[in-house]
Amino acid sequence: MKHLFGPVFSRRLGLSQGIDLLPPKTCNFNCIYCEINRAPQLSCERGEHVPTDIIIAEIDGLLEDEERVRDLDVFTITASGEPTLHTGIGRIIRHLKEKTDKPVAILTNGSQLHLKEVREDLSRADIVIPSLDAARPESFRKVNRPAECSADLDTIIKGIAQFSQEFTGEIWLEILLVENINDTIEDIAALKNAIERIRPTRVQLNTVARPPYESFAKPLTRKRMEEVKEEIEKGYAGHVDILAGSKETEVTDKGKGRNGSSEKISLESMESEIIEMVLRRPCTTLDIAGTLNLETERASQILQNLANRGDLIATIHGGKKYFRTPKGQKTENE
Ligand code: SF4
Repeated sequence: MKHLFGPVFSRRLGLSQGIDLLPPKTCNFNCIYCEINRAPQLSCERGEHVPTDIIIAEIDGLLEDEERVRDLDVFTITASGEPTLHTGIGRIIRHLKEKTDKPVAILTNGSQLHLKEVREDLSRADIVIPSLDAARPESFRKVNRPAECSADLDTIIKGIAQFSQEFTGEIWLEILLVENINDTIEDIAALKNAIERIRPTRVQLNTVARPPYESFAKPLTRKRMEEVKEEIEKGYAGHVDILAGSKETEVTDKGKGRNGSSEKISLESMESEIIEMVLRRPCTTLDIAGTLNLETERASQILQNLANRGDLIATIHGGKKYFRTPKGQKTENE
């Protein structure tokens, strides 16, 4: 499995080069809304799950392609799991900051920020996007299903708040709401208190926009999302955004992703890139067309062939057709 993916166009971050640090789905949570269609390898141990040198060599290979790098807006460190479980994350951020002038963003579930070494590792990033989906223990357990070894909710909130005090970059606190799970009046009141403690640069509200791991995880309506936004805005001076659509990637039209002609890429490479993308999250035809710079019709053809061979499955979510991997599918290096 490669550790660089995309670039993909993200409405909140722009053209984003993804860097994935972990084997799928190495995580200390098992969120009901997770977009990765497989059971987690639950772990709370920080370690070098993938040799840092391998990831840095891939980054250096990409940096040689000046044309491709020039148009990027951001490097985004994420994982098919929780990236702060990787002990090389600090070194990778420093490497990016030394070698490029592009901002570095980190997507994290926020559960490890009570650890001093994790806060230090993330300190050189420009934007950190921690999740906090619930501030009541019962809702936290229902939506995030933390591993037994995970820190408790109060420790997690304190850790995010402490990081927020120390960090000189921006903190965008993401809250993903699931209908009848973490969206009650009590949940929103508790989240407001947590926001007051954390004081993030902005709050980003999200819901189940792509096919979730558990089919019972349902999105909130737009109206309910607006109501929650209004409620949070009452006690918070920063920006509250509703993420329009997906948790991260929002390819809006062809050509926003990879630069240059896709003619140079063989069908086999395109198929393996598609599988790599879809292993991380379900994608629409437009997502794939945008990232690989393909005509929509061509992307659709390739996706359909992969589905016919059983490598992908098509599923409808929110009125859109997504392609995802069959449940539990493994990568070639597992
Ligand atoms: S959504 Fe993120 S934090 Fe939750 S299980 Fe999936 S990878 Fe882990």
